[in-house]
Amino acid sequence: MQKKSIKNLKVNCDRCGKQFEIKKLKTKWMDENVQRTYFVCPYCNQEYTSFYADERVRKNIKEIEKLQKRYDEIAQQNKEIMQELRQKYEGSKL
Ligand SMILES: [Zn+2]
Repeated sequence: MQKKSIKNLKVNCDRCGKQFEIKKLKTKWMDENVQRTYFVCPYCNQEYTSFYADERVRKNIKEIEKLQKRYDEIAQQNKEIMQELRQKYEGSKL
């Protein structure tokens, strides 16, 4: 989910001053545990770090994704139940 938030965000490059959209996040292993997520200015290739993630962060991201999925399922379920109820009580009027 936090993957979505940063993408397509417009930023100004501190180095060359040009504005660009973050289209793709890159990742690089810093060591056997820590991964750096970053993006690059398409004009001057300046790198910007989004975040560093180790085992704990990755575990939490997975957990959040699971919850997000569960959230969507429950919301969808409610939608269907509400529709069913409306059908039941207003069906004849539709
Ligand atoms: Zn730049």
